[in-house]
Amino acid sequence: MARVVLLAGGNTGDVKRTLQSAQQLVNDRVGAVLRCSHRYESEPWGFSGDRFSNQALEVSTDLAPEEVLDAVQRIECELGRNRAAETLEKARTGAAYVSRPIDIDILFYDDAVIRSERLTVPHPRLAEREFALVPLCEIMRGRRHPVSGLTVAQMLGALRAQSSEQPCGK
Ligand code: AMP
Repeated sequence: MARVVLLAGGNTGDVKRTLQSAQQLVNDRVGAVLRCSHRYESEPWGFSGDRFSNQALEVSTDLAPEEVLDAVQRIECELGRNRAAETLEKARTGAAYVSRPIDIDILFYDDAVIRSERLTVPHPRLAEREFALVPLCEIMRGRRHPVSGLTVAQMLGALRAQSSEQPCGK
């Protein structure tokens, strides 16, 4: 049994309902949801659009890491995520990110460090993303990143200190 930590978020459609459905589907297909944070709103990252709602989940699973990725990508698809349309929209706008009803990232898988073609765990941009660290901090502020050794609370503190040093808080 492994403990996997997911971040589910979205910014189109009935996001509250989509996140509830995602949690139920994760519970059915990935494993028991042990803890989940509240939903936190944030500005979109890397593009302009509607605000996102994000929620962190800790899940007990028998699945291997890539099986978790397969399962969450299937859930995203069933909940209306259309990667082909996103690719076209990215090409049209030149943005790296676009609006989506649901996105589920794997933040941690036990203390595993994975760098495969499809999967990087811990999530490679975790330390730069306040929208991921804030919900994560609610459910596991003392958890250490297996590479940097920093706790989730320390990562969030470092990120906030860094952004307050920059002009206009950017
Ligand atoms: P997305 O953020 O859902 O658009 O994911 C884009 C791609 O990132 C997916 O096709 C995954 O194969 C890849 N990926 C790499 N590491 C991760 C991770 N930790 N969690 C989710 N997706 C990942």
